[in-house]
Amino acid sequence: MRWKERKGLRKKVASERIKELLKLSEINKNDEILSRNSIKTAVAISRRHKIRIPYRFKRKYCKKCFIFFIPNETVRIRIGKGKITFTCLKCGNIKRIPYIKEKKIKKENK
Ligand SMILES: [Zn+2]
Repeated sequence: MRWKERKGLRKKVASERIKELLKLSEINKNDEILSRNSIKTAVAISRRHKIRIPYRFKRKYCKKCFIFFIPNETVRIRIGKGKITFTCLKCGNIKRIPYIKEKKIKKENK
């Protein structure tokens, strides 16, 4: 019981830390090294504690090289038939997100 409580608290602390790091990377998005390090640390924490990265941040960084996505600078965003394509201009990683899913999630958040 006690252990479980502590585990819950640890997870809470970890998820707060993730949010902080992601915010930090957003603030320092023009500093490639700093923002990349913040994202890397956030992803490492999320993996260690099995916590998901908040949805609104999921499309904001490159999963491969951890760069913060700045449209036309570090990422190229194309909206096609029912999907959005993110091309990382740093490592060339391509990420496609279905557009319909996006609408659904927005509804759920209301
Ligand atoms: Zn990349």
